Amino acid sequence: MDGMVRQHALTCFLTGHHSQSKTLAERLEQFNSQSEIATLPPVPDKPGPASPPRSRHRRAWQYLLLIVAISVFGILLEALLVRLPGNTLGTPAANERLGAVHIHTVASDGSGTIPEIMTTAREANLSFMAITDHNVSMDKDALAADPPDFPIIAGEEFTTSSGHFLALGIPPGWQKPKTGDAETLLAAAHAAGGFNVLAHPFSSKIPWQDWKTSDYDGIEIWNEDENWRRDNVFALLAGLLVYSVNDQLAMVRLARTPEPNFAKWDELLATRPIVGMCGTDAHANLRLGHGMFLRFPGYLPVFLVAREHALLAPGAGAGDASKAGAAEILAALEHGHSFCSLDALYPASGFIARFSSGESSGGPGDFVTWTNQGSMHIAVPSGSSRPLIQVFRDGQKLIESEGWTVDAPLPGPGRYRTEVFLRQPGILGGRRWTLWIFSNPTYVTSVSDRLNDDRANSKK
Ligand SMILES: [Zn+2]
Ligand SMILES: [Zn+2]
Repeated sequence: MDGMVRQHALTCFLTGHHSQSKTLAERLEQFNSQSEIATLPPVPDKPGPASPPRSRHRRAWQYLLLIVAISVFGILLEALLVRLPGNTLGTPAANERLGAVHIHTVASDGSGTIPEIMTTAREANLSFMAITDHNVSMDKDALAADPPDFPIIAGEEFTTSSGHFLALGIPPGWQKPKTGDAETLLAAAHAAGGFNVLAHPFSSKIPWQDWKTSDYDGIEIWNEDENWRRDNVFALLAGLLVYSVNDQLAMVRLARTPEPNFAKWDELLATRPIVGMCGTDAHANLRLGHGMFLRFPGYLPVFLVAREHALLAPGAGAGDASKAGAAEILAALEHGHSFCSLDALYPASGFIARFSSGESSGGPGDFVTWTNQGSMHIAVPSGSSRPLIQVFRDGQKLIESEGWTVDAPLPGPGRYRTEVFLRQPGILGGRRWTLWIFSNPTYVTSVSDRLNDDRANSKK
């Protein structure tokens, strides 16, 4: 037995896997034939147990499989260990209402009915939602059934030749003109009382293409569907894997700062006030073809990501914001009295962005009259990990500060908006700064600016 093993080892050594061994065998054979002194028996010219290239391939595959298995195990283990704050509301301000805007139901290409989605939204601690099915306004009966403590804003998402836009607040049962022309549809939606918001303007699939029109009031800065599709295929595969055990962490990992949206917003804000929105674009219906679909990403994990925090006017709900109806919440959104957050990282309720000058003071969406000096006060919930706060004035970064508050003087009039970042939780997120909150601008204007604006408006 021992001899056989040794003989096999010798055969392998001389004919086997390694190209270097073969070269040595050839050299030895050559030496034997030339030399008078034969020190080794002649080697039979038989093929080895496997030909060298196939064997190398097999080994490479084995290594690859091992690496994949270790990676999958590592990703899953980390996803199980990382704890996010979960489904908590945080500590909202007295006038704050939390909701989801841009939702699809079974009336178009979503997978949930309105009652199912409402139940899920309540689970996510939301207290309002805006339904925007594709090219169909809300059903009158469905809207009539909404309970008073959970207002539904009726809306529609229009498909046009220039891209998609949302109209919030159009009457249920409303029939749109039968055309795909963007200008006609934007005008018709406005005439019907809609608040027009350009949807996923930088989506790889359906971007907004007509930037010459101005017949809209807001743009989606964060569209969740547009956002996760920005990830590369490896990040998406890892995201799907994490999703199977920790859906919130998956959505956090897939989050990308919407740079093109912010850049466009700043460009548009230089011409007029434009509201920046968060759209969940929730479908829970990822089509795989052949009639198959994945409920990815589901309504619940998406409702913890792109959340609209509406800051209601003082008199809303007869002084009790929790009793405010859909019209009052929509009014807050229309005025840009809102901020958006990825609450799966940490609940952003209670976030403050306040800009003051003299007697005048305001938050997101407000106008403040500039007197000779002013100040800003930014504060985020103190329970979060150490955040990075950035304040932009007229699109230029004015302040970048790590910490939970910023108190600084205002250098002068301008549009001031805030972005706040938190580091990715866990190890595999690479501690990447991840967009957590962005707010609508506060417009600090000099009296002369205000007069010019009023004159321009009166000429229209
Ligand atoms: Zn769309
Ligand atoms: Zn949509």
